[in-house]
Amino acid sequence: MAWDFETEPEFQSKLDWMDEFVREEVEPLDLAFGGSAAPYDRRNPLYKKITNPLKDEVRKRELWACHLGPDLGGKGFGQVKLALMNEILGRSAWAPNIFGCQAPDSGNAEILAAYGTEAQKQKFLQPLLDGELVSCYSMTEPHAGSDPKEFRCRAWKDGDEWVIQGEKYFSSHADIADFLITMVVTDPEVPVYQGTSMFLIEKGTPGVEIKRLSGLAGEPLGTGHHAYIHYNDVRLPDENLLGGPGQAFAIAQKRLGGGRIHHAMRTIAQCRKALDMLCERALSRVTQGEVLAKKQMVQEYIADSFIQLEQFRLLVLYTAWHIDQGHRDKARTFISAVKVQAAEVLHDIVRRALHVHGALGCSNEMPLVKLWAGVPLMGVMDGPTEVHKVTVAKQVLKEHQPSDGLWPSEFLPDKLATARAKYAEHLEHDVGNL
Ligand SMILES: Cc1cc2nc3c(=O)[nH]c(=O)nc-3n(C[C@H](O)[C@H](O)[C@H](O)COP(=O)(O)OP(=O)(O)OC[C@H]3O[C@@H](n4cnc5c(N)ncnc54)[C@H](O)[C@@H]3O)c2cc1C
Repeated sequence: MAWDFETEPEFQSKLDWMDEFVREEVEPLDLAFGGSAAPYDRRNPLYKKITNPLKDEVRKRELWACHLGPDLGGKGFGQVKLALMNEILGRSAWAPNIFGCQAPDSGNAEILAAYGTEAQKQKFLQPLLDGELVSCYSMTEPHAGSDPKEFRCRAWKDGDEWVIQGEKYFSSHADIADFLITMVVTDPEVPVYQGTSMFLIEKGTPGVEIKRLSGLAGEPLGTGHHAYIHYNDVRLPDENLLGGPGQAFAIAQKRLGGGRIHHAMRTIAQCRKALDMLCERALSRVTQGEVLAKKQMVQEYIADSFIQLEQFRLLVLYTAWHIDQGHRDKARTFISAVKVQAAEVLHDIVRRALHVHGALGCSNEMPLVKLWAGVPLMGVMDGPTEVHKVTVAKQVLKEHQPSDGLWPSEFLPDKLATARAKYAEHLEHDVGNL
């Protein structure tokens, strides 16, 4: 019987160190330099100068790239421990970089480790793990995101070379990336899930044309790091294929599942940060002769936020546990569930925190509007809420399906009649009157 909600003291001491380190040493980077693409800009000499000593400290504590196994320089902690770490790291956009576990590099490293050839690992994986390279994952297309059956970007063989032709969209950090992992239909004759392949494309490869960069809300038009790419007759040898032809979806599932749960873990931190601010404001702002904390409606904000956050956190940890236990089907359903909940809980808690800060909450001097703008991103990226709800519903329905087809429509009255018949002698009413 092992339903244990305690953390081993040794690991707790690591978490305590991380908590203080992130608050004292890392969060100030968000305030000073912002948090959109800056943390990913690993070639920037100023950022390097500032972040290298912080990364060294993390390595010294043996907390670098903990999502990876020891063979790749990580600790192989598993998802539950990662959840406890990420619920600290998510407070800061810089922290995952300082700890070597930032998306999309973390997922890209995992698939390179699992499917890369020795040469690919040496060229791309090791420097990525060392925090020296920036990578990009290029899958979504301008006219097809959540439905890959609509993908149009194609590759075909011309002699010894693959030729890629098509467009990708919202390929984050493609402009600063050293290499892209691009998902392309290589066999349109079979279902897309079997006919799509992944390619490793180095920076500067002829034919990779960035048509424009989209930014997120608040960033001036024409700036931003989400690239609309035209792959215009990009020619690659076989050795740039990651995994075998047709394997892209099997590979993608490995990285997307991990990516989604890690986003959810970090969302706990963002919600907690908003709840911290909500409480600090409630205890410090005096209105109508008393602090806001005395107003029942504000108390309701705090109580609802706390309850939602703790429910969400438990669901995330339970999901992480399913992954660690190797419960594949369960994990898939639960990952979709936490992906949906992440956007909803973030929405509710940030809205309340923002409101109690009044004008200050709406300003660029507080991080609340930025957190607020993150809500729709959380609901859309890595698959929209609606699609994940469909995944959850399908699995729940599957578990309720009788082995011999549909439930009869008279199922519930039948069950009631059977139960009442069983206890008929104790019931006042005649079972026949049902
Ligand atoms: C900040 C950010 C970063 C991103 N980074 C990357 C990246 O690095 N690489 C990459 O490849 N992609 C990236 N994406 C793209 C992201 O993965 C896609 O936006 C996502 O998969 C949804 O695709 P779409 O935008 O084309 O929306 P669509 O697929 O067009 O869906 C639009 C809307 O239609 C509705 N909908 C869709 N399907 C259903 C359904 N089955 N039932 C009911 N309603 C439905 C939903 O409301 C959905 O939000 C990023 C997105 C964001 C916001």
